[in-house]
Amino acid sequence: MVWIGAGILLAAAVFSVVVLYFWRTIRELEAVRVQLQQANERLTRLASIDGLTGIANRRHFDETLALEVRRSQREGHPLSLILCDIDSFKPYNDSYGHARGDDTLKRVAQTVEKTFRRAGDLAARYGGEEFAIILPGIDGKQAWLFADRLRRNVWRLAIHNAGSTVADRVTLSAGVATTAPGCIYAADELIEAADAALYLAKDNGRNRVESHRPPETPQFPEVKARTG
Ligand code: GH3
Ligand code: MG
Ligand code: MG
Repeated sequence: MVWIGAGILLAAAVFSVVVLYFWRTIRELEAVRVQLQQANERLTRLASIDGLTGIANRRHFDETLALEVRRSQREGHPLSLILCDIDSFKPYNDSYGHARGDDTLKRVAQTVEKTFRRAGDLAARYGGEEFAIILPGIDGKQAWLFADRLRRNVWRLAIHNAGSTVADRVTLSAGVATTAPGCIYAADELIEAADAALYLAKDNGRNRVESHRPPETPQFPEVKARTG
């Protein structure tokens, strides 16, 4: 009888140790899983941020634009894109050095980000001294006004640029393009249109904003009435 009791006690003790062991292992595994998830989230965040300026990078921009173009077509609301480019930035680097050029890029990037704070807007570094802003639900007229506000905010930074062909300071040119009902753009067409408007802004003297005029005729074939 005593032996049976001792056996039961021993079995219970072994069972408790095994349960405790598994419980600890599961808790440790859960802690590792949480750490991995946090590291993954940090990596994803880092992969979408531009290393120099700290704002969204080109990859994040491309992904967001593709998404927003689909959403605007599905929901039938406008979508505007602003492409902007610092004027005479090569002469700036030549006059003050690449390190000062980097500092100026950071200040302009912060200004771009601060100017577009509405939830859903995305301000990104498009490449070099170019920035792009995605504005869901914003029509062409409003987008032009926002782009011009950005241009004025950069002007107000009053960063001296002796080599500029435009002014005594760093300035910004911008091009605006907007999708509208009856005139559907794919993401790359929207970029092309904003780029054409930016080119026009440069051509028309820089430190200004131009809008892309969509073609008069719809870009998709109209359904013709059957005449029998
Ligand atoms: P425009 O008014 O026609 O835009 O003239 P620009 O001089 O700004 O244009 P250009 O394309 O001739 O020169 C762009 C310059 O931007 C040259 C390049 O060294 C500079 N740049 C691009 N990326 C960086 C960067 O990360 N840091 C610095 N410091 N300069 C950069
Ligand atoms: Mg450029
Ligand atoms: Mg430039």
